[in-house]
Amino acid sequence: MSASKRVVIIGAGVGGMCAGALLAKQGCSVTVCEAIGVVGGRTRTQVIDGYQLPRGAVSFQLRGVLPTLCEEVGAKLDLRPVSEMWFWIKGGDGFVPLPAKSGIGKMLEMLMQVQGKDSTKAMAQVGLQLSMAKISQAFKSPDIIREDDDGPTFRAWLMQYTDNEDLLALFHAITSAVSALNDFEYPARHWFAHFSGAAMDARMDKYALVGDGFQGVSRALGDIITANGGEILLNTKTLAINSADGHATGVTVERAGKQFDIPADVVISNTGPMTTLSLAGEAALGKDYTQRIRKRVRPTPIVATYVVSDEPLFTPRAAFLAAGLERIVTGVPLTNICPEWAPDGKHLTSFYGTPKSCLTPMDKDDERRANVADVHALFPDFAAKGGRILDVQLRDIDDPDVVARSWPGHNVPVETPLPNLFNVGDACGPDGFIATPAAAASARNTVNKILAKLS
Ligand SMILES: Cc1cc2nc3c(=O)[nH]c(=O)nc-3n(C[C@H](O)[C@H](O)[C@H](O)COP(=O)(O)OP(=O)(O)OC[C@H]3O[C@@H](n4cnc5c(N)ncnc54)[C@H](O)[C@@H]3O)c2cc1C
Repeated sequence: MSASKRVVIIGAGVGGMCAGALLAKQGCSVTVCEAIGVVGGRTRTQVIDGYQLPRGAVSFQLRGVLPTLCEEVGAKLDLRPVSEMWFWIKGGDGFVPLPAKSGIGKMLEMLMQVQGKDSTKAMAQVGLQLSMAKISQAFKSPDIIREDDDGPTFRAWLMQYTDNEDLLALFHAITSAVSALNDFEYPARHWFAHFSGAAMDARMDKYALVGDGFQGVSRALGDIITANGGEILLNTKTLAINSADGHATGVTVERAGKQFDIPADVVISNTGPMTTLSLAGEAALGKDYTQRIRKRVRPTPIVATYVVSDEPLFTPRAAFLAAGLERIVTGVPLTNICPEWAPDGKHLTSFYGTPKSCLTPMDKDDERRANVADVHALFPDFAAKGGRILDVQLRDIDDPDVVARSWPGHNVPVETPLPNLFNVGDACGPDGFIATPAAAASARNTVNKILAKLS
């Protein structure tokens, strides 16, 4: 491909940097324009009181599209593998490690122990086993689910087979931990798409933390871009995507108080489909496309609670999944793996909760209360260990740093009505992909399409 092909990428998030590294390696002249002073987008690190908080992604999946892409371009990452997941269930005897291969089986065993503790529930064990047998069978042929629209929610689908509250809580926790959505809002057919073989990438079993924070992935990809003649312009906000005669012609940016145009043969937006709409304008993209995207995109909110302590709250080098709490479904004892993220002798743990609804704005006071209460329920010795809530970050559906710019299943195609304007990012992955694997897959898909068009 000719090096004279100039590609402008708006945004230095994971999707933008993956696309940039792949294209730079192919000989394109790549310019990344990033509005803020660092690369990484939502994966950037935020420092509070000397603690390094990952604002977004924590777990780097060790298999799948993102590690493959990083390896292909030669990005050097400081990966700290974590191969364990522990499980906690309300009413149980505390945290237990999940075996790598039969995690769900172990969770069910714990669930039965919890039920068996209560004599009134002992009989429910039989029902539970029967329900699981039915569910396992139904999992093998979930194509009974309608394809014409979103269809039933995963909870509605599950309730055909069980009304056991503990079992429902377990599936709720798994759903929220993996997709950040409530199972009673998440369409069942998207749930199955995500848990299918095609989306193996997004599974939680083999993962790592990145030593310099997940932003280290974007930094390493940035090194590939610059080593191949590209440039990354920080503090450079794109004000408009320019177009003429049905093609993108480049961007207008603002940097250090000055506005200027950067011409391009191809423009890639990593800002999310809604921002792409406003940058390019309805006149360029057409009314139909604009309306379709507005209707389709559904941002996913999340509550991230960061806790500091004098002693580790949880000692294994593992993440944990929790079932039966009000909001929190997962957490990571970050400094067990990356001790340098806290001042000497201090510890940092992050907790993630799915709000009461992912469809309507949060009741922020209630979300704060519920997430903090869950931390105390998980760690009754919180105060004795010198625990302190450092920050509760309420990323509502209108927050620029939501957990995903669109729900899985509400993903947007990478192509736009302008043949040389593309979207990349976590709203644009293939069906079943979410988070950073979705962003990386969207970049790979976009680059394949660009190379096919330009060759
Ligand atoms: C609390 C939390 C926990 C998470 N945990 C995980 C996890 O464990 N694993 C995982 O895989 N994912 C996780 N995610 C999701 C992950 O962080 C995102 O999926 C991923 O970072 C999205 O990347 P992206 O490519 O869509 O770009 P973004 O990160 O959205 O980057 C877009 C970039 O565009 C820039 N930009 C926007 N507008 C302009 C403009 N006009 N001009 C120039 N630049 C602009 C922004 O500044 C930003 O840098 C988590 C997210 C959150 C919030």
